[in-house]
Amino acid sequence: MSQERDYYEVLGVQKDAEQDAIKKAYRKLAMKFHPDKNPGDKEAEDKFKEASAAYSVLSDPDKRARYDRFGHQGVNGQGGGFHNVDDIFDSFGDIFSDFFGMGGFGGRGRRSRTGPRRGSDLRYMCEVSFKEVLSGLEKEIEFEAEESCETCTGSGAEPGTDAETCERCLGKGQIVTSQGFFQVATTCPNCQGAGKVIKSPCKSCHGKGRELQKRKILVTIPAGVDNGTRLRVSGEGEGGYRGGPCGDLYVEIRVREEENMVRSGQDCYAPLKLSYIQALLGSEVEVQGIDKKHVVDVPQGVSTGQHLRVRGEGFPDIRGRGRGDFILEVQVEIPKKLKKEEEKLLREIAKIRGESVNETKSKSFFGI
Ligand SMILES: [Zn+2]
Ligand SMILES: [Zn+2]
Repeated sequence: MSQERDYYEVLGVQKDAEQDAIKKAYRKLAMKFHPDKNPGDKEAEDKFKEASAAYSVLSDPDKRARYDRFGHQGVNGQGGGFHNVDDIFDSFGDIFSDFFGMGGFGGRGRRSRTGPRRGSDLRYMCEVSFKEVLSGLEKEIEFEAEESCETCTGSGAEPGTDAETCERCLGKGQIVTSQGFFQVATTCPNCQGAGKVIKSPCKSCHGKGRELQKRKILVTIPAGVDNGTRLRVSGEGEGGYRGGPCGDLYVEIRVREEENMVRSGQDCYAPLKLSYIQALLGSEVEVQGIDKKHVVDVPQGVSTGQHLRVRGEGFPDIRGRGRGDFILEVQVEIPKKLKKEEEKLLREIAKIRGESVNETKSKSFFGI
């Protein structure tokens, strides 16, 4: 995902939309782009994920408030964390069971609701400087991740109580009705397919069995990362469901732009301003590299646009295969004004070279 769209725009709702309107808008999109309705259609799947990410944030008052204040940054990893479609069914199963329970769309939602399931992956953006790309670094990052509620150990039921077997479906999660020759299985509306009903919900998580936990971890960012490099930190995503494994955390790298330097792969380009005399006669100049100064030998007769290479002083390869070059692009500066003595000498040079040049302009009447 290159640029994340505004969540309100994704769902097509106003900024002050009520929860009902948000849910309705999401249902409509989820119906349209549902993977079971669009098998093998990658674009529909992306739209489905995008709408689900938007809904996961806007349907949660806390996340929505953070999103309104800080934009995507404020909910990093909590909205865009859907890497697989099953996570979506697991999170919003109730929405789908209402709509897809009839006629065969209920299967996925039900399967993912009962057994242990892996937690969602999370995404974290991390900005690094050019210098940090050279050296690599260890960075402490802080974020919130959803985990099993500690109070009820994820059951959603108040400690000391249990979820009771659903009376309507007798724990099967679905109800089978016969219509002539056909048997139609629909998701049980009493337990939304879970097979169990929580009579006294856990007060700390309001029966969800999940809660947000703050986490602080140390991430090793290797030298040579580039824009868009994704580092996987295994097991640091959201907690699993019903004893399932944790998801992974993906740290996505953004490299901060530096003034007067441009990165191109492993090479780094910078302008080198020279006077016309330096360009003509050659010179030894000191230039600021990515992390230190370099002394560059400018040969005689360089011109604007020419490249001078400082070998091995560019960016390192992430697999440790050496470094690129630091490349200086020559810009020859021609003075607008000459000193009298300087102009006199240059006119003599013009004579030696047999070149015709303009005569000295004494200040004319018109000031030109
Ligand atoms: Zn709880
Ligand atoms: Zn039931």
